[in-house]
Amino acid sequence: MAEETIFSKIIRKEIPADILYQDDLVTAFRDITPRAPSHILIIPNKLIPTINDVEESDELALGRMFTVAKKLAEQEKIAEDGYRLIVNCNSHGGQEVYHIHMHLLGGKPLGPLLMD
Ligand code: 5GP
Repeated sequence: MAEETIFSKIIRKEIPADILYQDDLVTAFRDITPRAPSHILIIPNKLIPTINDVEESDELALGRMFTVAKKLAEQEKIAEDGYRLIVNCNSHGGQEVYHIHMHLLGGKPLGPLLMD
């Protein structure tokens, strides 16, 4: 059984977060350290530590993360100009919180994707 992170507490509303969306499969909330004018994290309610742990039975929740990203981009009024979705995996990918999360970043030109 994977160890819970702070994100499980956010899902259960045991600690405060600026939650923008929640349903039976996913939760979305503003990143505490925004790296862009809009910086939202979209996570499955089920604890999946990394992309390496994804199973076929998770496909509905993972797909929902994309449709929620689309809706929130519209809500944030960044859809037309564009935005970036990022999912980091493990240490080389820069993952710090071991509960899968999709970063939705936008509100300014983000430049080329960093490769180093
Ligand atoms: P990672 O580097 O794992 O892809 O990104 C983790 C993200 O979670 C970071 O952008 C970090 O700012 C955010 N984060 C970490 N702890 C909290 C928290 O307690 N609340 C919120 N809203 N975001 C958090």
